[in-house]
Amino acid sequence: MDPSNRPAEVQWRLPGCSASCPATMTPWTTTERSYDAIVCDWYGTVVTDRSSDASAPRRRIEALCAAGVDVAIVSGTHIGNVDGQLNARPAGPGRLWLCLNSGSEVFQVGPHGPVLSWRRQASRAENRALDEAARQTVDELGERGLQAAVVSSRLNRRKIDLIPLPEWSGPPQEHIDELLAAVEGRLKGCGLSSLAAAVNLARNAARHTGLVDPRIMSDAKHIEIGLTDKSDSVAWVLERLGAGGVGPGLVLVAGDEFGPLGGVPGSDSWLLSPRTTAISVGREPGGVAPGVLHLGGGPPAFLELLEEQLDRRTRRFPPWIDEDPAWTILLSSEPQRARSSEALATLASGWWGTRGAREEAPCLPGVYVSGLYRERHAPVLLEGPWWPRLDVRWQGGFDDRRLLDLRTGALVREERDGSLRTFRFSSATAPSIAMLRAEGDSSRLGPETEVRSHATRSSDICGGMALATEVVEIEKGHRRSIERITALDACTDGPARPWVASRRLERASRQGFERLLAQHRREWERRWETCAVTIDGDPASELAVRFAVFHLLSSVRGDSSGEGSVEAAAGARGLSGPGYGGHVFWDADVFTLPAIGPLRPRAARAMLQYRIRRLGTARERACRDGRAGARFPWESAGDGKEVTPTRGRTPEGEEVPILTGDLEEHITADVAWAADLYARWTGDESFLNGPGGDLIIETARYWASRAELDHDGSAHLRNVIGPDEYHERVDDNAFTNVMARWNLRRGAELVEEHGGTGTEARIWRDVADRLVDGYSAVTGRHEQFAGYDLLEPILVRDVATPPFAADAVLGRARTASSQVIKQADVLMAHHMIPDELEAGSLERDLDYYLARTSHGSSLSPSVHASVLARAGRVEEALEFFKLAARLDLDDLAGTTAEGLHLACLGGLWQAVATGFLGLRPDRRVLRLDPKLPASWSRLELRCRYRGVPIIVEAGADGFSVVAEADIPVVDNAGNRIPISLTKDVRRTPLRGRTTDATS
Ligand code: BGC
Repeated sequence: MDPSNRPAEVQWRLPGCSASCPATMTPWTTTERSYDAIVCDWYGTVVTDRSSDASAPRRRIEALCAAGVDVAIVSGTHIGNVDGQLNARPAGPGRLWLCLNSGSEVFQVGPHGPVLSWRRQASRAENRALDEAARQTVDELGERGLQAAVVSSRLNRRKIDLIPLPEWSGPPQEHIDELLAAVEGRLKGCGLSSLAAAVNLARNAARHTGLVDPRIMSDAKHIEIGLTDKSDSVAWVLERLGAGGVGPGLVLVAGDEFGPLGGVPGSDSWLLSPRTTAISVGREPGGVAPGVLHLGGGPPAFLELLEEQLDRRTRRFPPWIDEDPAWTILLSSEPQRARSSEALATLASGWWGTRGAREEAPCLPGVYVSGLYRERHAPVLLEGPWWPRLDVRWQGGFDDRRLLDLRTGALVREERDGSLRTFRFSSATAPSIAMLRAEGDSSRLGPETEVRSHATRSSDICGGMALATEVVEIEKGHRRSIERITALDACTDGPARPWVASRRLERASRQGFERLLAQHRREWERRWETCAVTIDGDPASELAVRFAVFHLLSSVRGDSSGEGSVEAAAGARGLSGPGYGGHVFWDADVFTLPAIGPLRPRAARAMLQYRIRRLGTARERACRDGRAGARFPWESAGDGKEVTPTRGRTPEGEEVPILTGDLEEHITADVAWAADLYARWTGDESFLNGPGGDLIIETARYWASRAELDHDGSAHLRNVIGPDEYHERVDDNAFTNVMARWNLRRGAELVEEHGGTGTEARIWRDVADRLVDGYSAVTGRHEQFAGYDLLEPILVRDVATPPFAADAVLGRARTASSQVIKQADVLMAHHMIPDELEAGSLERDLDYYLARTSHGSSLSPSVHASVLARAGRVEEALEFFKLAARLDLDDLAGTTAEGLHLACLGGLWQAVATGFLGLRPDRRVLRLDPKLPASWSRLELRCRYRGVPIIVEAGADGFSVVAEADIPVVDNAGNRIPISLTKDVRRTPLRGRTTDATS
């Protein structure tokens, strides 16, 4: 067979089929699932021939479009034939496309008829080449003694009749076997072994005339030489669908000629595409193509299929997801992983989140609202009512498959025996709305008791949430389907307002499940267009980063006006669990925000708003401590006061004091750093001139009053806890001091820029210059705090394999008196403010602290990945990167059940951006210095710089930046990198939508 035979290649790549589907995939049949789009061939599939009555398919197609399904009819013929016969006039919301002239034209049909959407325009040279190719083919056949004729020259195609005899003038489908035998008889008579040989002859002629990618088709009677074929139509349709978040896995393809004909791929084989479900209603005399479900039965069978799809829509069956392995997380079915899976599959709109628990049996029925806490003295997130609850009969265990679709933000579940299926999403466009559909056997899925219900939860602090729910239930035969729409209202400064939730619910149910789902999918697609990460060569890492970005984007509200009207309290576990009471730590400022800033600037602004609104409380704290400026709490909840518990228990049950609330002061500089970083990514100068500047200046003021001056003139920060919490009450923690120094210097700059008092700025600079940072010219590295080098020199390799909790292994006292540390500390400073550290110290610090870090905190591995990558030690960096990538997905710390480690997810993104790509915004330019591990053949990252969407790409042969405007990007030598300008970065195709499932 000709090696350029494209359908064969497509068939090889076809996933989702019973023969070659990966373990995670189910070989669907149409009776079991709902499709969002149908792509079908015309003659032989929708209608038998030109004279058939098309009123029945017309009615079904119009009804499907009305129900929101997109339909594309693909044919080699022209608009007059298809529209003349079908005459459908759908009013939407589903679209009807007629993809005609073998991939050269697309019409969209509305209530007033077809309108041309797209046409492939051939150049004059191409038209000449087509004529010449057809003539040459006929001549060559003639020379061999076979009389053929060019019978028509349609748009971008030339058609050659291989058997121009009156007795074979009818439509080829009717007597296809006899026709094929007659044609092959003629071909053999002149020395051509098969129809395929004649097709090859035509292909060679076409190439000879200069056509680069000729499309040769045959229906046995004819050979067509063209510029396009049906695969172009499918590609066009899939692209449109993809832009709306409908991937190929949600598309049903129907035809009647997939199998080969005389050694030539069937004309409908061009419709095949990875992950679509393909069904043949044809006779398929040459056998059906692999991966195609053979139903047979011709157009009546296709009509039944349409009917069935319509029925599923009317009965509100759950939709499904495009099971693209590059975007899908298969949740573990192991009972011991049930709790952590609930956290992994959390669906959240940034405002509120629902854990991905099984509807009827949540281990932890978590529903949380961002920033809404209860318990005045020890605030924890307020739990909402478990709105997805269903009455599902217990079968003594679970035998289901649950998948989280990162691409469109949906969670699906199916029992393997088909007795239950559910679909949930938390609307990305209507952040107060969440929806559920379920369908199952009536003996398994019980009825709903209430059509409408309300539930409120009030906080003893202030505020509460109200949920309003509406249910539609349909029972038919022994199957029951349930659709539930839930609307939220939540307030942090007053009681819950059930009537507001009801109003939102009414609006949502007027719009309906289908429309809200379509908007939600489209919104996620848009998000990925400017936020996706692609790692060629390492699918597991790619999926993990996408998982991280998915949850980062879900955890923080990004729907503010950008003016700071909305605030986002990003707790350490986001909206995915009760861990740490939902308190806000430095995790938000230093791990989460650096990813959110370049991905969703508005959401980052909302995170900063949380700090800005609590600046007054931070001032009060500083004042109480006898200091100037503002001191931020280590842990905070609603009111911005310190809420770190003062006592805790070790896993062994021993009660211990918790000192971080008193002593982990670096958070104050971390908040300032986050404000500055946000401004560097976004270019939001007004923020720095306004509330952002206040954060930086007030915190600088704090450090100036906090530092103690020694008789030798040096300045010190005594009695603190650094990021390494194993060592308490230390003096001059290098990280804290260097961060404070940076804060003082940056504060001084801003004061001067804003025309403030020169005296204060001078004092701050002076204190900054005097602050010790633990660097020793003798060792060439930083000492983590004063006296650290004198501690017991235990190396982690002598204790256990990281990650491990050293205090649990060695005991608290021994750990505290040893050099074993919990997490990146000195290296954290190298990660955040490299310019503040002694040039050349990174290597020494890396070697020294790598040997001493237990990674007892989930925050640690990603930071190590970042700094190792910057140091060019990319393979070591990759090891740490993979550790961070698996931390939640494999529940490595054993604490994911309590919620995702949002900081780890933010750190993972930073490891890609700051680490492997070396992407750093400074005050004037964006720096880029990519260093990739050998297994990553290509890395692509999308984000925004100064409001401009950009795509940064690096591979073995260099790097490039695509942007919508000329932005200043420089390489590591400071040379300006030329930008490839594009009008619309979003239109640059996102890898992964059509990725081969087997890759
Ligand atoms: C880490 C802190 C972190 C906190 C919340 C602790 O174990 O040491 O750095 O802020 O967890 O994630």
